[in-house]
Amino acid sequence: MRLSRSVVGEDEANAVSKVITEDGYLGMGTVAREFENAIARYIGIEPWQVISVNSGTAALHLACQTVYIQEQEKIRNLDGNPEFIIPSLTFVASFQAARAAGFKAVPCDVLLETGTMDLDDVQRRINKNTVAIMPVDYASNPWKLDETYAFASKNGLRVVEDAAHAFGCKHHRKKIGSFGDLVCFSFDGIKNITCGEGGCIIAFQKDAATLCADARLLGVKGDTAKRFAGARSWDPDVVHQGWRYHLSNIMAAIGIVQLKRLETEFIPARRRLYELYRQKLSDIENVAFFVTDPDDFIVPHILPLRILEEKRQLVANDLQARGIPTGMHYKPNHLLSLFGGGANRLPNVEKLYGELLTVPLHPCLADEDVILVCDEIKKVLGARNA
Ligand SMILES: *Cc1c(COP(=O)(O)O)cnc(C)c1O
Repeated sequence: MRLSRSVVGEDEANAVSKVITEDGYLGMGTVAREFENAIARYIGIEPWQVISVNSGTAALHLACQTVYIQEQEKIRNLDGNPEFIIPSLTFVASFQAARAAGFKAVPCDVLLETGTMDLDDVQRRINKNTVAIMPVDYASNPWKLDETYAFASKNGLRVVEDAAHAFGCKHHRKKIGSFGDLVCFSFDGIKNITCGEGGCIIAFQKDAATLCADARLLGVKGDTAKRFAGARSWDPDVVHQGWRYHLSNIMAAIGIVQLKRLETEFIPARRRLYELYRQKLSDIENVAFFVTDPDDFIVPHILPLRILEEKRQLVANDLQARGIPTGMHYKPNHLLSLFGGGANRLPNVEKLYGELLTVPLHPCLADEDVILVCDEIKKVLGARNA
């Protein structure tokens, strides 16, 4: 049994093979453009809004850099470093991306019930140097996103949404990526769809989209349009810092096939396995699921359980002894040396750090696997009212 995996096969292999044998160009070209168009169609937005890159981290970095450039007037007039408030319970990529773009990454607490950003705690951390917030759709939970965007707008803050877990999800019937400021997806090996490695930014202003698109190709102005037309810029100008973050045709070819399989295979499989876990663990003492909004549509990328009453290690050890892999998403970022080393306490994140145990979840998992994991947890913790 595996905790997570890429679910790829013949169709992806054929698509890659076609790029190699027929297209003859492996870099960023027509296949990458086709992938962006397919994402735009899927989400229901315009093609210019989708900027594909070679990882989710690159997407977050470019989104943060775009905020920095667009807010440079405000930033020039600050006393200290511009600040980006980020929930501590996230992959370190969120923090590194904000830092790489020139921000001080300020960790904030999360809600115990959902694992998502606690807006009351954010409010307390806002000061004159605060420029932006980064809500994370933790465990594919788009909890109160409308409220989060309204909060940001009320406080004059930009938003980079880390939606790495949330491709295919909906908030109040709107697809993730169909609303927001700058929304970032990851298509790494284990996400809801994969390119092998890849990601994209969804932008809602033309300027922001252009800044992201140029910055993925070393800041060379207008290089995207040239490459999509099979050409190059031989007399370019460069205005801003840029990177080599573009997505190759090979990776894009995998993504195009994955996107076709999302609605028919991946979403139903992930949701069915998740429901089976819920059902099988419902009568077990000291296991809690994160709360979700019935008006949201969740496509679970990972399943972190809360194991209460300090029994997490007991369960983790037992599952490990049975050869069942588990994970821990995530070590809180405010405990990492680079982001404060625990100098500030975040009570809810730290409580969750003692409770969380991620159990196997991916579309290749069989019902019997889920039942086996649940029976094992039941053996350790016992049934409720037993
Ligand atoms: C996967 C992930 C990222 C980074 O994506 P990569 O494609 O792996 O670089 C960022 N944030 C979160 C929450 C993630 O899970």
